[in-house]
Amino acid sequence: MHDILQQLGITENNNGASTGSNWVKSSGKVITSFSPVDGKKIADVVSADDKAYEEVINTASKAFLEWRLWPSPKRGDVVRQFAESLRKYKEPLGKLVSYEMGKSLQEGYGEVQEMIDICDFAVGLSRQLHGLTMHSERPGHRMYEQWHPLGIVGIISAFNFPVAVWSWNTALALVCGDVCVWKPSEKTPLCAVACQKIIADVFTANNVPEGVCNLLVGERELGERMAADVRIPLVSATGSTRMGKAVGAAVGARLGRSLLELGGNNAIIISKDADLDMALVGCVFGAVGTAGQRCTTTRRLIIHEEVYNSFRDKLVNAYKQLRIGNPLDENVHVGPLIDKDAVKMYEDAIERCKTEGGKFLVEGGVLKGDGYESDCYVKPAVAEVQPHFNVVQHETFAPILYLMKYKTFDEAVAIQNGVPQGLSSSIMTLNLREAEAFLSAAGSDCGIANVNIGTSGAEIGGAFGGEKETGGGRESGSDAWRIYMRRQTNTINYSNKLPLAQGIKFDL
Ligand code: NAD
Repeated sequence: MHDILQQLGITENNNGASTGSNWVKSSGKVITSFSPVDGKKIADVVSADDKAYEEVINTASKAFLEWRLWPSPKRGDVVRQFAESLRKYKEPLGKLVSYEMGKSLQEGYGEVQEMIDICDFAVGLSRQLHGLTMHSERPGHRMYEQWHPLGIVGIISAFNFPVAVWSWNTALALVCGDVCVWKPSEKTPLCAVACQKIIADVFTANNVPEGVCNLLVGERELGERMAADVRIPLVSATGSTRMGKAVGAAVGARLGRSLLELGGNNAIIISKDADLDMALVGCVFGAVGTAGQRCTTTRRLIIHEEVYNSFRDKLVNAYKQLRIGNPLDENVHVGPLIDKDAVKMYEDAIERCKTEGGKFLVEGGVLKGDGYESDCYVKPAVAEVQPHFNVVQHETFAPILYLMKYKTFDEAVAIQNGVPQGLSSSIMTLNLREAEAFLSAAGSDCGIANVNIGTSGAEIGGAFGGEKETGGGRESGSDAWRIYMRRQTNTINYSNKLPLAQGIKFDL
């Protein structure tokens, strides 16, 4: 790992506040990053203190005045070069993601690939920030709309996608002419320091003003400060529903804009008309990939009674084949949880499930001994439950999969929709009527609804996000860029009269 850190410019003690190539002095709390892979300390990061926060926000505010005037395709060209740089750093950055967060190496590389993909998307977008033209009701008038840059975009991100979520926001915000201030998760600060260094080099080579991409490492309080700061017109926050409720309320109280990407409680419906072998792969990867720590992780299976027993047996058998261990080893399926607090939450959920009457088909438990020294490795578990159980209604960020039985399609949809969250959903069926009904207005109530693929893993081309307690935000593809801009309606009078709208007469 030493070589990797060196390539990424990470030292033993790192500064956590930056306006680009300038690293701002701070005497904030020192955050030590430990790897969940082996429990070892990786390095220290000094978090941003009040003075550093002010310097960063002031520099960002100034940078915006200049950056918003760069033609958007020119901003896009800088993002294109950032993608080129990420291609060069894919291996070390992917390894750091895997080592600091604990996801498999393939998924670490995949996360960096997602950064590259969103940059490519943003480059094209930089020439397509379209507005509409409308027909005016007044003669000799023209009406149209423009999209202008918004200002500072505050990005608060979660530990489980320590680099991709930042890039989803940043690549779009940059082409839109905004400047970014990123507060990464305090659990993965080194990934953030590495990203900041990569983008700062690209900016320096292109004479991008200092303050266009900024970093503020810190804990919850720093995020709270950003949410309340009127100088930040948009706060994009990814994390738990608890965090989103606090951020949404603080931003709303000052009538700012928030983009919330919060917890999920994702289900797959397994129809009696499903290809069960294909469904199995989707369910197992969805439930145990990233050790159950994706917002789109499959947490609930709603299985038709006619195929319930056979699918349940296939699933239990597949769980027996899972290899749990060091995620940097390519043969391993399941790595560790992020930390011991997460392990405690996993154990609590298992206990609560048992108390409520859940029956475990695959028992959970914390792994000890050789290779598991960090105490963060747990066994993926499977339980038979009832949909209304309290534990089933909540997101536990760990690999626990709940099985439920259904008789009718309507009942399956009701169970799928009957939770407070609304992120990702899917149906496994070869029955066209069922598939279309699932995607109809009376079907899934989630932001993402799939047919014959699982709930987890989305492409950047579509807008990503969910309804209800998932927060309602959309980022990444489609027209998600609009939230990063302000819309202005323009009416131009090229006649020699001044007719008023709605035919109002005002003669002087
Ligand atoms: P978390 O809510 O504990 O922390 C997320 C971020 O918010 C961190 O940077 C943290 O410091 C900050 N934060 C916490 N409380 C805050 C507050 N009151 N005000 C401002 N900032 C605050 O979440 P986590 O444990 O890092 O991540 C796991 C959660 O994130 C899961 O619920 C998962 O579903 C969700 N998630 C959602 C998406 C999505 O796109 N919907 C993507 C990734 C993760």
